Amino acid sequence: MHTSFSVRTRSRTTFVNITREVELAVGELGVEDGAVLVYCPHTTGAITINESADPDVVRDIDSKLARLVPHSDGYRHAEGNSDAHVKSSLVGCSETVLVAGGSLVLGTWQGIFFCEFDGPRTRTVMVGALASA
Ligand code: ZN
Repeated sequence: MHTSFSVRTRSRTTFVNITREVELAVGELGVEDGAVLVYCPHTTGAITINESADPDVVRDIDSKLARLVPHSDGYRHAEGNSDAHVKSSLVGCSETVLVAGGSLVLGTWQGIFFCEFDGPRTRTVMVGALASA
């Protein structure tokens, strides 16, 4: 059982806080106690959990990834977006999040982010119930 929502990104790389949308999906799926998989079916996007209190944290991650994985670096892939593919594999296309009492189990400072590495685009994020009681 799963549901999905769209994320509209507005620049080539950006991290979009999707915690609220995932919480709504948990309610829609009726998960009370268990876990959900937050998954993006894209090869140039990713899902991560990190600090949401200070938006500079994800900006720092984004800029560090840009320095680690340059846009042009002798890649073979003709589409010209190999940096985005590499970043997607480094970060990963899913996160598993526990659910207790119908709410996501996140630390005080944690948020769930969709990571855009080749935008702007309209993206899909899927949320699947892994276990539910
Ligand atoms: Zn490509």
